[in-house]
Amino acid sequence: MAKRDYYEVLEVTKTATVEEIKKAYRKKAIQYHPDKNPGDKEAEEKFKEAAEAYDVLSNPDKRARYDQFGHAGMSGAAGNGGPFGGFSGGMSMDDIFSMFGDIFGGHGGGGFGGFGGFGGGGQQTQRRFRGSDLRVKVKLNLQEISTGVEKKFKLKKYLTCTHCHGSGAEGGDSETCPTCKGSGTVIRNQQTILGTMQTRTTCQTCGGEGKIIKNKCKECSGEGIVYGEEVVSVNIPAGVAEGMQLSMSGKGNAGKHNGVPGDLLILVEEEQDPNLIRDENDLIYNLLLSFPTAALGGTVEIPTIDSKVKVKIESGTQPGKVLRLRGKGLPSVNGYGTGDLLVNISIYVPEALNKEEKSALEKMEASENFKPNTSIKEKIFKKFKSLFD
Ligand SMILES: [Zn+2]
Ligand SMILES: [Zn+2]
Repeated sequence: MAKRDYYEVLEVTKTATVEEIKKAYRKKAIQYHPDKNPGDKEAEEKFKEAAEAYDVLSNPDKRARYDQFGHAGMSGAAGNGGPFGGFSGGMSMDDIFSMFGDIFGGHGGGGFGGFGGFGGGGQQTQRRFRGSDLRVKVKLNLQEISTGVEKKFKLKKYLTCTHCHGSGAEGGDSETCPTCKGSGTVIRNQQTILGTMQTRTTCQTCGGEGKIIKNKCKECSGEGIVYGEEVVSVNIPAGVAEGMQLSMSGKGNAGKHNGVPGDLLILVEEEQDPNLIRDENDLIYNLLLSFPTAALGGTVEIPTIDSKVKVKIESGTQPGKVLRLRGKGLPSVNGYGTGDLLVNISIYVPEALNKEEKSALEKMEASENFKPNTSIKEKIFKKFKSLFD
């Protein structure tokens, strides 16, 4: 069977970097790994093919030779034991695992299940527990949102055991696990139809932690954490909005055995303001103007977040007009600028009239001046239409 091009096998370009090649190989190795494809001959071939391609392309000398001479440059020289050596037509599974074992390693979690973090560099194999996140809700009014606010939460949560300082051991005497010698993982040789396979699995003796506790702490039964209460204060920045989630790293549940604590997640809820509607950083107020004030002009009071402002109404003010009070909205949460307070004008029409009012209005109704002319109709229509743009 003719050999496929190594670049093609790994699906990388001819100019791929070593990192890219490593990454591509890892992907193939996971895809065709015999653990995932038990008894699948084709997958096994692909697995071997990828390993062979990786062996050549990850080695600068072999790669240069291959680039120049192709497969002939590889196998033809195999017997010489020279710079092209080490590859005499196919590799066994054992070869692959012993040569490239490191590419599968680095993670304690259940054999090949835990490839996720590869490439991070660190070879941390011991398992560290992580505490779970805690979620709380906080309801804020506009005043609090406009200035930012400090809120205190009394949290029921797991805390590090003070008696054993989180170790879980009475007197702090934990010892290195004799099974895995502290690594947290053990290499297991498994007999399969494909031959002997090496897999790295979590050490059963210590559960992957690399150490074992001789005398469990009496306060926490060896867990290193106890259930308790803690008051956490959170500075909520100005400008937050409904549905935003703030997170305080490390303020969630403590992790077992001095593990990594979870986070505290704070979900923001907005209290409905009786007067003001929020539109991002702007606020909207609907001003119900009396008909005489709209016609004659005057001064009205508009509620803001924390007080009131007086606003002048021009004579002949039309419904649908929007007044913009600059900077009277909410600050943006990222600190850039402040929104406006938009005052939408509507006209109040009395629901009942006395005799005098009625006759006065009947006179007005007869007057041509009280009928909207074409230009005002157009103006108001334009305004109205803009609401739907
Ligand atoms: Zn304890
Ligand atoms: Zn162990």
